[in-house]
Amino acid sequence: MNLQIPHLVFVAGIATYLTIRGIFSRRLRSQQKSVDKSNTGDRMLVVLVGIGQIVLPLLLLFSPLLDWARYTLPPAAAWLGTAVMAAGVWLFWRSHVDLGESWSVTLMLNPEHKLVTRGVYRAVRHPMYAAFFVLAIGQVLLLDNWFAGWASLVAVTVLYLRRVPHEEGMMLEFFGDEYRAYMQRTGGILPRLGTRNQA
Ligand code: SAH
Repeated sequence: MNLQIPHLVFVAGIATYLTIRGIFSRRLRSQQKSVDKSNTGDRMLVVLVGIGQIVLPLLLLFSPLLDWARYTLPPAAAWLGTAVMAAGVWLFWRSHVDLGESWSVTLMLNPEHKLVTRGVYRAVRHPMYAAFFVLAIGQVLLLDNWFAGWASLVAVTVLYLRRVPHEEGMMLEFFGDEYRAYMQRTGGILPRLGTRNQA
């Protein structure tokens, strides 16, 4: 076992993140779909992120398999990683609260789907994916390993680049000009500079 304090901070962060996801998954009524754009490729992206966030870190922490790819992080990385991880968990929780019943793991819309443009969705269209990026940066700062440290950042980048065009295409098809206007006043994962964000 390789447990050090930064590793324990990472485990606490991921455990909180999984608890939040569990709570919001249970709150969803049996989700009816009126549009379902999920496919095997999209589900594989979710699995890829899970491998980066959970499987590789567990291998680092509880087996010697990844020991050959370890390096030394500066002590300040642990403090910064803790703050970044906390910010990622907060943003993930807020995104779930604001998206409410409109959330789904894969790409779909429910029969009474409402476009959410308030809360953390006021300035950016993908705060939940932004939270994945923030958590992945926390992972880089807390896990001293080329594989377990960086895996989520790679996986989340692939998820973002592959999924967002499909997701935005689906939203444009369903919400038309409402989503087009929303796109014009918001950024993807970073707020748009020089725009007043009216919900
Ligand atoms: N991309 C968003 C949501 C991720 S969950 C984020 O990063 O925060 C994915 C599902 O959310 C999609 O299947 C879509 O149905 C729904 N969705 C995405 N943006 C939405 C919005 N602004 N309002 C309502 N539902 C949205």
